[in-house]
Amino acid sequence: MSTRSFNPPVRTLMGPGPSDVHPRVLAAMARPTIGHLDPAFVAMMEETKALLQYAFQTQNAFTFPVSGPGSAGMETCFVNLVEPGDKVIVCQNGVFGARMKENVVRAGGEPIVVEDNLGEPIDPGKVEDALKKHRGVTLVAFVHAETSTGVESDAQALARIAHQHGAATIVDAVTSLGGSPLSVDAWGLDAVYSGSQKCLSCTPGLSPVTFSERAAEKIKKRKSPVQSWFLDLTLVMGYWGTGKRTYHHTAPINPLYGLHEALVLLKEEGLEASWARHRQQYEALRAGIEAMGLSYLVKEPHRLPQLNAIRVPEGVDDATVRSKLLHDYNIEIGGGLGALAGKLWRIGLMGHGANPKNVMSCLGALDAVLA
Ligand code: PLP
Repeated sequence: MSTRSFNPPVRTLMGPGPSDVHPRVLAAMARPTIGHLDPAFVAMMEETKALLQYAFQTQNAFTFPVSGPGSAGMETCFVNLVEPGDKVIVCQNGVFGARMKENVVRAGGEPIVVEDNLGEPIDPGKVEDALKKHRGVTLVAFVHAETSTGVESDAQALARIAHQHGAATIVDAVTSLGGSPLSVDAWGLDAVYSGSQKCLSCTPGLSPVTFSERAAEKIKKRKSPVQSWFLDLTLVMGYWGTGKRTYHHTAPINPLYGLHEALVLLKEEGLEASWARHRQQYEALRAGIEAMGLSYLVKEPHRLPQLNAIRVPEGVDDATVRSKLLHDYNIEIGGGLGALAGKLWRIGLMGHGANPKNVMSCLGALDAVLA
């Protein structure tokens, strides 16, 4: 058994997440731990909620970070909003949509899957057809930014159609928050979850969520109790809400310092400026990728700037290239997931990592490895 401390190598994280963590975030996390009911901590919680409202562009009172990774935010949305027997349309155009279906089944709901090809956005017309065909659908669930393929779907159009048919929306914004336009109130999104480890430049393990009035009402009117005790919002909000704070679980104190600092950084830069920076760095990367004769999986208007899905050329071994990038250049990029394993490289330009130095280093290293 080792008695040495663990000292990780210094990498440049340019995969699908986690992304490079900002040094100010790491420094914030090293500050002294205080109690989770300490007035100073409670004041920081309130600031975090307000900063998250800014990041999500919402006035929703139910906006806070779930203690757990993006998957915990996903489950929070599904277990609180899906009741046994509920019909839920689940849009599937990649790995993360498939996980949503699994969540509906486990919450006792009836999933109605609307499929689109990998690398293509969700077709709002197909969702509308499904809503007309299946009466009484209560929810439409979809991934805004599908990290497995690098495609963006039109969240605003999908929410509009859902509402026209009396359904609320559950939206996965794990990869979009902070990196590309997302406007919860203006787009009318109901339950939205994200992750700390992508475009927020924070460490993994926290999942910002937000719930509209419509979603909060739906939860209040539940006929059956939420099957998960830990993720039951009526209990969690006893701690994160505005009333008297009651102990629910011990909040992850130091990671929350980190998220607070990450959100302060986002506010300092400005949301629009952050979106613009991600786009600029994508454009620089794309120029280099195309100059190397490589191509993207997703067509230009639907590409996510923060997740570049590049086709592995014929005759090139995906894993060997990624391994050389990691071991010779300390750069991590991602491979394909599921049906796209071995066929894609996923280059992330997320948060603090979306900068010219990373773009140039990645292009230079990839060119050298492919030569
Ligand atoms: N949804 C999307 C779109 C993701 O990219 C991820 C993680 O990569 C998740 C959900 C799950 O988040 P986590 O791995 O933090 O649980």
